[in-house]
Amino acid sequence: MTAAHESPIKVLVTGAGGFIGHHLVTFLKARGYWVRGVDLKHPEFAPTDADEFEVLDLRRWDACLQATRGVKEVYALAADMGGMGFISSNHAQILRNNALINLHTIEAARINDVVRYFYTSSACVYPEYLQQDAHVTPLKEEDVYPAQPQDAYGWEKLIGEHLCRHYREDFGLETRVVRFHNIFGPLGTWEGGREKAPAAMCRKIATAKLSGDPTVEIWGDGEQTRSFCYIDDCLTGIYKLMRSDYHEPLNLGQDRMVTINQLADIIAEIAGVSIVKKHVPGPQGVRGRNSDNTRLREVLGWSPEISLEAGLAETYAWIEGEVRARLGA
Ligand code: NAD
Repeated sequence: MTAAHESPIKVLVTGAGGFIGHHLVTFLKARGYWVRGVDLKHPEFAPTDADEFEVLDLRRWDACLQATRGVKEVYALAADMGGMGFISSNHAQILRNNALINLHTIEAARINDVVRYFYTSSACVYPEYLQQDAHVTPLKEEDVYPAQPQDAYGWEKLIGEHLCRHYREDFGLETRVVRFHNIFGPLGTWEGGREKAPAAMCRKIATAKLSGDPTVEIWGDGEQTRSFCYIDDCLTGIYKLMRSDYHEPLNLGQDRMVTINQLADIIAEIAGVSIVKKHVPGPQGVRGRNSDNTRLREVLGWSPEISLEAGLAETYAWIEGEVRARLGA
């Protein structure tokens, strides 16, 4: 990225105490960047590799000015977010917090002469009316309109996408926008209410294995479908998109769809345990969702390569270790 005599490019990763942000800091450091990480908290499970890590509340304007000083590029990952259980029941908090974070971060980046700005949107921007069937047609980028995201989280992400477009058109800020589809991997939240389906399922199955009680609760009938993308593919995609000249929103996810029941079966096989699924009421989100990766392949000449099984094997091993430590097993 830089010749030996050049000073490294300085970048900011917001949300660097969170799952994807923490991995992204490590990824960018390995490529020779100088990285400032910012978050409300330090990473929970491993020390950061950032050159500088500042604990700041990015809902605040002064914090955003401080965070973006002296950097050429911003990866804006900070968000108040979690799995279905969290985003389906905290609408006002999510909309307010994420709107403040995004409005202030991008304006501070402009004032501080940032050149490139990476914004992390979500598959949650896609309209509910296209996702009512488990055998859903994969979602193309242009399917987003007419807009009808399911939750406040998705509406705010859509506004964030527009914000990027207008800052690019009006102020020349080079914005890049990604729509993640269910990213998973080690070092992510696995308990406490904000965890997403793969981590929650790994925890439940590890608990079943270690406790000897094979019952595993699944929200709804478990026939709702999703695609899941491993963190290493996510990082590669982020980097390729940031270095590209493509500025429209782009899907980044796997395009292999599985039901939540199948997800549980795959993890149980990895864990080497027989489980008994117990279907209980719970938030399920849309009925079906999958990524159409046609544009991703056209734009980046690449699409995610790591299989669900390989990614889950890594994730399960880490979460089983965490559960063991918790249980003293
Ligand atoms: P995460 O919750 O692990 O990380 C987000 C981080 O933002 C957290 O560490 C949190 O403390 C921080 N944050 C929240 N409010 C803040 C504030 N006011 N000031 C500073 N920091 C604040 O989530 P993640 O999975 O790493 O997601 C990263 C980004 O990708 C988010 O924008 C998220 O919406 C988006 N995304 C993630 C997924 C996924 O599957 N993980 C899917 C779609 C979109």
